[in-house]
Amino acid sequence: MSNPASPALDFDGLRPPSPFLMAEHDQWRAHLRGFINRHVAPNLDAWDAASDFPGALYQQAAQDGILGMGFREDLGGTGEDIDLYHRIIFAEEFFRMGSGVVFADLATPWIALPPIINGGAPEMLDRIARPVLAGDKKIAFAVTEPGGGSDVSGFVTTAERRGDCFIVNGGKTLISGAMKADCLLTAVRTGGPGIGGLSLLLIETDRPGVTRGSVPGLEWYNRNNGWLKFDNVEVPVGNLIGVENRGFAGLANQFNIERFSGIAATLAMTRTCVAEAVAFARERQTFGKRLIDHQVMRHKIVDMIQRLKVSYAFLDLLVWRFSQGETPVADLAMLKIQATTTLEHCARESLQVLGGRAYTGGNRVERIYREARIFVIGGGSEEILRDLAAKQMGF
Ligand SMILES: Cc1cc2nc3c(=O)[nH]c(=O)nc-3n(C[C@H](O)[C@H](O)[C@H](O)COP(=O)(O)OP(=O)(O)OC[C@H]3O[C@@H](n4cnc5c(N)ncnc54)[C@H](O)[C@@H]3O)c2cc1C
Repeated sequence: MSNPASPALDFDGLRPPSPFLMAEHDQWRAHLRGFINRHVAPNLDAWDAASDFPGALYQQAAQDGILGMGFREDLGGTGEDIDLYHRIIFAEEFFRMGSGVVFADLATPWIALPPIINGGAPEMLDRIARPVLAGDKKIAFAVTEPGGGSDVSGFVTTAERRGDCFIVNGGKTLISGAMKADCLLTAVRTGGPGIGGLSLLLIETDRPGVTRGSVPGLEWYNRNNGWLKFDNVEVPVGNLIGVENRGFAGLANQFNIERFSGIAATLAMTRTCVAEAVAFARERQTFGKRLIDHQVMRHKIVDMIQRLKVSYAFLDLLVWRFSQGETPVADLAMLKIQATTTLEHCARESLQVLGGRAYTGGNRVERIYREARIFVIGGGSEEILRDLAAKQMGF
C-alpha cells in the first residue's frame, strides 16, 4: 500500500518539492507543456525517425512566446524579467519527452544572440536579432573545431585583417543547427596564441567559401548538426562582435547560466525514465508476481529516486545562491557531473527494468538511453568540469 501523502511516481511527482517554485513558474510550465503537447508530441516519433523537424516550428515557437524567452520585448522577446527557473522549466518540459531533436536547435539563440545584442553593431538588432527571435532566420553557435573542443586556447580557425574585411580560414564541427543556419557566431583567431588571441565573429553561411555537411555519426540524433569549412571567406570588419582578441572574456557568465539548462534537461530525462520504469514494474508479472514485488527491482527504483532527489536538492540550492548574487563555479561544475551521471545511471537501470520492452516502441527510455552520453560531453565534459572545480578550489 502506498502512503496517500506520497506523490505519484510520475514525471511531475518525481520532482521533489521546492520552496523556490512559485505560481508564475507553474504557469510557465503549463504554457510550455501546452505548446509541446500540441506541436511537438504528436510528431515526435516521425521527427525522431527523420532526425529532423520542420522549419515552421521556429515561427510557431516565436508566435507562442517561447523562442524569445528572456530577450528584450522590443526585439520580439518575452522580456528580461525571468529567473533561472524559467530556463530550467523550459529544458525540463522539452526533455520530458526526450525530444533533444527539437531542443538543441530551438535553444541555440540563448547562447548565440546575447553577445550579438550586447556587443555587435546596432544594425545587427534588425539584421540578426529580430529575425532570429521571429523564427525567420536561424543562428548557430560555432566554436568546436575538428582538432578539439575542450582546449579553447588551441583553436586554429584564423581571421586575418585585410582592409575592411577579415579573411577566414579553418573549420568547425559538431555544431547544433549548422545545416539550417543563416549565420554563425564563431570563435576565430585574430591575434596570437592562447585564449587571448580569439575573437567572436558573425559569419553568414551564404558567403563564398563557406561549405557545410552533416556530421555522419550523429544522424540518429539530429541531422541538422554539422561541420563547416571556411576557405578564404571574406567577412566585413563590422561583423566583429565585442572587442577584438577578447572574444571569450564576456562568455563565462553566459556559460554558467546555460549550464543550468543542460542540468535541467538531464534531470527531466531521468524523471521520464524512472516514471516509465515504475509504471512497467507495477504491471509486468514474472515468476508469479509483479516486477516491483521483487526486492531487487524495488531497490533499483529506490536507488534511482534517491539519486534524483540529491540532484534536485543540489540544483535548488545553487539556483538560490545564484539568485543571491553568488557565482559558485566549482559547485555548478560538480552539479552538472552529478546530474549527468545520475541520468546515465538511471537510463541504464530503467532500461534494465523494461528489458526487451524498451526496444519494442511506445516508450522513451531507449531513446533517452542513446542520448544520455551527449550530456556528459557537451556543455563542459566531465573531465574538464572536474578540472575546473579543482582549480576553483585551489588545487
Ligand atoms: C550533440 C552535440 C552537439 C554539439 N553542439 C555544439 C554546438 O552547437 N557548438 C559547438 O561549438 N560545439 C558543439 N558540440 C561540441 C562539444 O562542445 C564538444 O564535443 C566538447 O566541447 C568536447 O570537445 P571534443 O569533442 O572535441 O573533445 P576533446 O576536446 O577532443 O576531448 C576528448 C575527451 O578527452 C577529455 N579531455 C580533454 N582534455 C582533457 C584533460 N586535460 N584531462 C582529462 N580529460 C580530457 C574530454 O573531456 C573528452 O572526453 C556538440 C557536441 C555534441 C556531441
